[in-house]
Amino acid sequence: MPQPYYNVSNKMLFISKQTWSFLFILFILAFFTTLLHYSHHTNTPAHKSSHFYLDSFLSSATNYTLATYLRHLTLHPHLAGTLPSLHTALYVKSHFQSLNLQTHVTNYTVLLSYPLFSSVTLHFPNGSVLSLTLSEPGLSSTGVVKPYHAYSPSGSVYGKPVFLNYGREMDYIALGVHGVKVKGCVGIVRRGGRLSRNEVVEKAAARGVTAVLMFTDSEFAGGVERGTVMSGVGDPLSPGWGGVENGEKLRLDDPIVMQKFPSIHSLPISMISAETILKSLEGAEMPYEWRKSMRCSTSGRVGPGPIMLNFTYEGERKMATVQNVFAVIRGSEEPDRFVLLGNHRDAWTYGAVDPNSGTAALLDIARRYALLIRLGWNPRRTIILCSWDAEEFGMIGSTEWVEQNLLTLGSKSVAYLNVDCAVQGPGFFPSTTPQFDDLLTEITKKVNDPDSEGMTLYERWTAANRGIRIQRLTAVDSDFAPFLHHAGVPSVDLYYGKDFPVYHTAFDSYNWMVNFGDPFFQRHVAVTGVWGLLALRLAEDPILPFNYLPYAAELQDYNRILTDLLEGSNISLHPITAATQQLAAAAKQTLEEAKKLKEDEATDEHTVLKRRILNDQLMFAERGFLDEEGLQGRPWFKHMVYGPRNDGESELDFFPGLANAISRSSGLKSGEHNAETQHEIWRIARAIQRAAHTLKGIVLSVLRMQVYGPRNDGENELDFFPGLANAISRSSGLKSGEHNASIQHEIWRIARAIQRAAHALKCELT
Ligand SMILES: [Zn+2]
Repeated sequence: MPQPYYNVSNKMLFISKQTWSFLFILFILAFFTTLLHYSHHTNTPAHKSSHFYLDSFLSSATNYTLATYLRHLTLHPHLAGTLPSLHTALYVKSHFQSLNLQTHVTNYTVLLSYPLFSSVTLHFPNGSVLSLTLSEPGLSSTGVVKPYHAYSPSGSVYGKPVFLNYGREMDYIALGVHGVKVKGCVGIVRRGGRLSRNEVVEKAAARGVTAVLMFTDSEFAGGVERGTVMSGVGDPLSPGWGGVENGEKLRLDDPIVMQKFPSIHSLPISMISAETILKSLEGAEMPYEWRKSMRCSTSGRVGPGPIMLNFTYEGERKMATVQNVFAVIRGSEEPDRFVLLGNHRDAWTYGAVDPNSGTAALLDIARRYALLIRLGWNPRRTIILCSWDAEEFGMIGSTEWVEQNLLTLGSKSVAYLNVDCAVQGPGFFPSTTPQFDDLLTEITKKVNDPDSEGMTLYERWTAANRGIRIQRLTAVDSDFAPFLHHAGVPSVDLYYGKDFPVYHTAFDSYNWMVNFGDPFFQRHVAVTGVWGLLALRLAEDPILPFNYLPYAAELQDYNRILTDLLEGSNISLHPITAATQQLAAAAKQTLEEAKKLKEDEATDEHTVLKRRILNDQLMFAERGFLDEEGLQGRPWFKHMVYGPRNDGESELDFFPGLANAISRSSGLKSGEHNAETQHEIWRIARAIQRAAHTLKGIVLSVLRMQVYGPRNDGENELDFFPGLANAISRSSGLKSGEHNASIQHEIWRIARAIQRAAHALKCELT
């Protein structure tokens, strides 16, 4: 039995064999009818309209192909860096190849992390000892990885357990009020409260907690939520550049690498195990606010102790090869403009929801696009289907690729459309950067709602939310992060359903999907429809379907929220107000220009060029929001409007640099705080202004000099490679080991810069 799952025998199989054959015959009939229908069209030499292909895309939807792909992908657990994971890469690759799509695989050798041994024993005051079960029921022989936190340091601790609620700042304050001392204790934390695992562990470590056990307060009490505790994204050994083979790799003991991993041990446990600990706690009473929201039963006290916990975790960090798989449909008129669709393939366990519901959708889009190609379709712009690896460890596959291709992607990408957990239940939950709002809304009117007969997705979605509800991409929780937060590519992330109970557990299996997530795969069909149509429009529309007015409106909303928040301070929001007005004016002007060009059907060189220029403005405007310096303390994150806040508890989920400055300001003197906050406001204003200027056609330079530039030491012999010249100058005062490292690093930076120039000359993606 490949899947250790609860009993499903009393449930009907969702499609019987007869139904399969029936559907298969229907499909064959439909296919030939369509072919006959189209062959009539192909007699006319004129180019078929985009509408024809959009309609053909919609009419080629099937639920059984999606179900078949998902079944294949979830036959075995396929954790990144393992053999079964390589098999899923080959499955995706051969699927693309069987459709005659141009296919390639990009490998990276990166640092991953796996568990070797873990144990938690409870020592009761009466002398009795109890070992907790740390794995999930039925796991022993299935190849599912034991529950663990990737990159947690190895080691043992012995101490009293203390309940920390979500591990937020305010939780420690509440404990402090009750006189609870957490130093030297083992923290028990429930997941939630908007903090990442890394943030929870780091906050606990800062208070002297020696280890953390995390559980999910869930209806699936036996499941254990695996996850990464690394901070940031990408291969820890190649921060900021592509981790290619024979490229630069930092050492494991490099301080830059070390600071990505927590300093204390952590492990996920089931709610059943957490209950055993929490029921034995004495000490201060648990705050009422915590108790009333807990599913898990407890003694009503937070400890510490009196029981003692003995906790051991041993893991290994090792280099592993990860595979990104691509299919490319080359554009006919603008091959150097890319529309990217991406989804990760690696999973903690079987990954039926996370992420292979999305992979099934990606494979089905490939099938349907291949069908369009057979009908004569050739998109205007290039479409790239991307299947990422090692997302679960920290968006590693996508980040390495974006870093390696930064220049090409930055200058040629129209949009990045991400789908991770495509289907986890009912309800449509899209997130986008705001220039997509109109397009997305329009497309939901073309797709049938999966849960109500005769309704469009749009009708059901807007009824459920009393209007259009689109989230923004502030969290760093899937592969859009490198594209948007690092490269400034307009991005989308689509979900059906939310907060599924088997998240990152061994129960995220095909059976769960068939019994709970999407029994008839109609939700899969809906997501696939929206995703595929978005890409088709972006690849086909002569004028890119972006509208920046909703972006300006969104920024105005943010400004209003800030006005309330900063009331009474001497901080001026005027720079943001003024820049937003500029953006709104530019957006309006662009819309008018687009309208004129859409009406103009001329195909002369001049009109074609005018369209291309306008499209460039629409495409590059998002890059304006990037700031070269990035967020303070996290310079890799360059987007000034969307990105991670240092303090996950901050109320503001936009303008991350400003949110961080406001969080930090509480500990500073009043003069200082205003200066820093005001500086962040100016940086945001300049970013919005850059976006406005780009929309109006003033193109930005995003390149930095690596070959020519000033040396710090004017007497230096070298009047080229300034960074290297400076490193050599500095090296005289250093010990020999250090000096070599810094010079070698500068040599790598120059090599990567020359490589970027070479790639740009060839207009090449790896
Ligand atoms: Zn995922």
